[in-house]
Amino acid sequence: MIIPKNPKLTDEQLSEVRRIVSDFGCSIQVIDGAVQSIYAIVGDERHELLINRIEGLDYIDRVDTIQSPHKLLDARSELKNHKTVFGGVELGESLLAIAGPCTIDPKDPNRFYETAHALKEAGAHALRGGVWKPRTNPYSYQGDDKALEILMEGSSRTGLPVNTEVMDEGHLKLALDAGVHMLQIGTRNALNYSLLRQIGQAIAGRDTVALLKRGRHIGPLNEFISAAEYIVNFGNPNVVLCPRGTLPSLEGYRNHPDESITPLLKEKTWAPVVVDPSHSVGKSVYVEACSMAAVAYGADGLCIEANIDPSSGLGDDPKQAISPDAFEKLIRKCRTIWDLNRDA
Ligand code: PEP
Ligand code: MN
Repeated sequence: MIIPKNPKLTDEQLSEVRRIVSDFGCSIQVIDGAVQSIYAIVGDERHELLINRIEGLDYIDRVDTIQSPHKLLDARSELKNHKTVFGGVELGESLLAIAGPCTIDPKDPNRFYETAHALKEAGAHALRGGVWKPRTNPYSYQGDDKALEILMEGSSRTGLPVNTEVMDEGHLKLALDAGVHMLQIGTRNALNYSLLRQIGQAIAGRDTVALLKRGRHIGPLNEFISAAEYIVNFGNPNVVLCPRGTLPSLEGYRNHPDESITPLLKEKTWAPVVVDPSHSVGKSVYVEACSMAAVAYGADGLCIEANIDPSSGLGDDPKQAISPDAFEKLIRKCRTIWDLNRDA
């Protein structure tokens, strides 16, 4: 990883660096952080002569050869100063609240608009809403392109940015063309490296944010962080890690809440962590406690399923969505915990 003296290399400087690394069979990927651009060497960057030649350039501060499977997301990386901003919130500075239904009902756009307005009133900075759904049962509702229009209309009516899950290249293109602000990679696709690469390529040079859920089957933390590295290494560092429960090891919860991995993630990476308490517990009555625990463990934000009338919603809403009133109370409590963590 090449660290320039100034925030960005000029075109001429970049060409010179490209020429040097290509002599060693490597190439350069530019990562545009909010504070500074860094230049990832793609290939073996440990060659001593390569390092000496680059460090000999007067506009280069140093070459960083962090030995890490996720060198860009590593807590020691120069990108640690990068700040992701979403919904007007600089992650890490105050608690980000994303909320909305599991699934947007294409037959009932008004429900989404009313939910969106109520959640904005209740303190949401951004909306979520499933357009295309990964369903276990092939006969369950799978989503509908029409819901994308409704999602974007909800965004323009409220002025809030939106999150939706994409499962393939077709969804990705439709979502970006429509102006979706945050792309969700769901638990089932968290290790779909082709999709991660496609998303990384598609959002390079944009301010789109990627929210990567922790797969139900992911074990080691490095596996999760490396999946996020797949996206970042194409040039856009706006990636958010999202614990959402793992395979259940006890009866009662839908998944096993894993919000306690947040401090471990924060030791290894600078990436913000936004916990999804709704899928973690799978039951609306437990969502508040899980949210508070997540914030106590250091989460930078929450992504919560909420609906003005959960019982008649689609997908997960009847089981796990909360009302806007419950959301408002939950966020108030969570902000108190956030403040307590910072006062200490
Ligand atoms: C969702 O957010 O509605 C969803 C399907 O998420 P996950 O991939 O975590 O199951
Ligand atoms: Mn859901």
